[in-house]
Amino acid sequence: MEIFDVAIVGGGPAGSSCAAFCASAGLETLVLERARFPREKVCGDCLNPSCWPVLARLGLAQRVWGLPHSKLTSIDFMAINGRKVSVNLPTGNDSELSVKRSLFDDLLLKRACELGAHVREGTTATALVHDQDWKIETASRETFRARILIGADGRNSTVARLRNLLPRPARERVALQAHIPLPLNFDERVVLQFLREGYSGQAPVNENELNLCLVGKPSTISRLRQWAQRQFEIPANQRWRTITPLTRSPVLCAHENLLFIGDAARVVEPFTGEGIYYAIRSGELAASAIAKIIKGKDRQLALREFGRASAEIYRGRLWINRLARAAVLSPRLASFLIQATRVEPIFHSLTTKIATPKF
Ligand SMILES: Cc1cc2nc3c(=O)[nH]c(=O)nc-3n(C[C@H](O)[C@H](O)[C@H](O)COP(=O)(O)OP(=O)(O)OC[C@H]3O[C@@H](n4cnc5c(N)ncnc54)[C@H](O)[C@@H]3O)c2cc1C
Repeated sequence: MEIFDVAIVGGGPAGSSCAAFCASAGLETLVLERARFPREKVCGDCLNPSCWPVLARLGLAQRVWGLPHSKLTSIDFMAINGRKVSVNLPTGNDSELSVKRSLFDDLLLKRACELGAHVREGTTATALVHDQDWKIETASRETFRARILIGADGRNSTVARLRNLLPRPARERVALQAHIPLPLNFDERVVLQFLREGYSGQAPVNENELNLCLVGKPSTISRLRQWAQRQFEIPANQRWRTITPLTRSPVLCAHENLLFIGDAARVVEPFTGEGIYYAIRSGELAASAIAKIIKGKDRQLALREFGRASAEIYRGRLWINRLARAAVLSPRLASFLIQATRVEPIFHSLTTKIATPKF
């Protein structure tokens, strides 16, 4: 049986970018992905400008601009009573875009294939055995072997669960997402709207469709759905995608021959729209560590460097994300802040910090 240098479980942004960088470093790379692409995903579909440098290194920046998308020029933070604060987003090549995940994720996975990664879609990892190498068993009773294993399988990571590393599920909130017809004159803006029961994110994803996300507690989510039905004239039989938890404790990202990237490693409050950036950047960092290990460099040093660099991605941003989490857990308080005088410069500086490319 072929032994791959690296097997990546999950072909979302984290897994695909890791696979693309591993393959271009000459590693025998395998991706196991449960779904068949293209597929949608519960997400606000917004690409934070920080993604551009990584997408450029993947050779994808121009191709992402070529996908059907909306260029987003501002964010409206909206209080419960409708009062809003608008903040402009970066322009030019550093713009924030929204693009459907069916298109974006498919492009990334295809790029990994182009660069030489072996991709198996419709293949769910179900069991792991670790002796000298990793043995990965799938739902279709196939077995794959690899020297290094990457958990890139999202917030409910099977890899983390099988290794007893997944934090116990907390009583958490739930998100609903749908693409609905774009309301007239919506403009090129993201709306982050606080509601008594939680919050809603809205962004156009092309000329005809609006991405609509609702986040609430299990006890309030059906009221949020009813609000959305009234607000956007959505039929009662609208199909919604759903996901939980919205956040959870992180998983240590560097273990002996096992690395976690993207949401599998750390899930942040989606309000600030950064998850895809963390996913593709952590995929890039993991690939660099794996290349060093496979090429015989000091394994412990490579793992330590990966751990440090992974933590660095979040430096200076996590506290803003925590602030956002505190705000969304208390929509009344957040609404009070939006109505406060002289609050615009604060929203402006926090948004600029989140939406400024780093690496
Ligand atoms: C409501 C909401 C709104 C959001 N909005 C934004 C936003 O606007 N911008 C942004 O940047 N981020 C946003 N995020 C966060 C973003 O969606 C995630 O951070 C991002 O998808 C993480 O990418 P990933 O590759 O780590 O995981 P995922 O995208 O979850 O990919 C994991 C992949 O693993 C596969 N998989 C799972 N289990 C297995 C298995 N056992 N075997 C094989 N394959 C498996 C899945 O099919 C999936 O394709 C939002 C999140 C939520 C919940």
